[in-house]
Amino acid sequence: MIVGVLGAGQLARMIALAGLPMGLNFCFYDSADECCAEPLGKLFRGSFDDENLLKQFADEVDIITYEFENVPLKTIDLLPKDKVVYPSVKALDYTQDRLKEKNLFKELGLPTPGFKEINNFEDLQNAKKELGFPFVIKTRSGGYDGKGQLVLKQESDFEKAQALYEAVPCIAEEWVKFEREVSLISVCGKDDIRFYDLNENEHRNGVLYLTQNKENDPIQDQAIQWAKKLAKKLDYRGVLTIEFFQCGNTLLANEYAPRVHNSGHWTIEGATSSQFENHLRAILDKPLGSTKSHGYSKMYNCLGSLPNKESLLSIEDLHVHDYDKTPREGRKVGHINITHSSLDSVKKSESDFLNLV
Ligand code: AMP
Repeated sequence: MIVGVLGAGQLARMIALAGLPMGLNFCFYDSADECCAEPLGKLFRGSFDDENLLKQFADEVDIITYEFENVPLKTIDLLPKDKVVYPSVKALDYTQDRLKEKNLFKELGLPTPGFKEINNFEDLQNAKKELGFPFVIKTRSGGYDGKGQLVLKQESDFEKAQALYEAVPCIAEEWVKFEREVSLISVCGKDDIRFYDLNENEHRNGVLYLTQNKENDPIQDQAIQWAKKLAKKLDYRGVLTIEFFQCGNTLLANEYAPRVHNSGHWTIEGATSSQFENHLRAILDKPLGSTKSHGYSKMYNCLGSLPNKESLLSIEDLHVHDYDKTPREGRKVGHINITHSSLDSVKKSESDFLNLV
């Protein structure tokens, strides 16, 4: 069985690392010069509108999935119709446009921060009236990890926003004073849906910094209820992630990702079957693996470069995940997972790690 993955970055790499022991083989398709999944399968390097190359790729694989939500819909359209693509194209379509995504949340009754479409200066004035300062302008498509976003605190900031909305369609969003950010990773099989422990996430400069799993979190049931609704609406298959802001006892949906997610990396050592293994099981119609956690896990992203590997490896209960990428400022080049049944042990290893960085 050969799985085709659109994208050949670290998520594709970790999907393949989970699939190889299951006897699966992999082909990747990417336009980038450096593809860290390349050592794990056959790489097709080309643009996402190269019909010929896409056909060659599709001909070699049994099923197709993707590692990023900005796969052009046209690319999916160019693939032969007899090749199954999971998760559904519907799931891609909504998530590629923040306005569509927010309207979908509204339609499903899922609370989301107040928002407004922004096309001109008058819309900005109305957003100020409706949302109040501060509010954030986000590009409707293409943004991730806080890119394509601008927080507006006063009218003098409008000029900077103008440059953004004149270049690309935008939305304005209420700035939420949340207590914490959480995400839920669900895995949807043919007739089964399972959930990992809720993730508590800390971002720095819009980029995920730390995730820890929260077994039996009191708000988890609310997150599960929304995930089930969204999965049903999208005819979903595979791993589905929803990111929320928690305000009191309410969850506000920030966005969803139709793919394996950075906040689920702890599941590699911290759960019985990782999000990557379960994504493959789900798209291949196999029984899903247990999502049960082994105890306490913390995941830290390594941005720019990895700390000294010898020192990392000397920390008890710490697992290094080096994506084998060229170091570059701000780039996600790896992550570390710390897992143990005792929270004190996790905290000790975490403190050793934080002393290194
Ligand atoms: P996003 O790319 O929309 O996930 O945004 C990246 C991060 O910026 C989020 O995880 C939050 O930490 C922060 N952020 C985004 N939108 C808002 C908002 N409306 N209110 C408060 N913080 C936000």
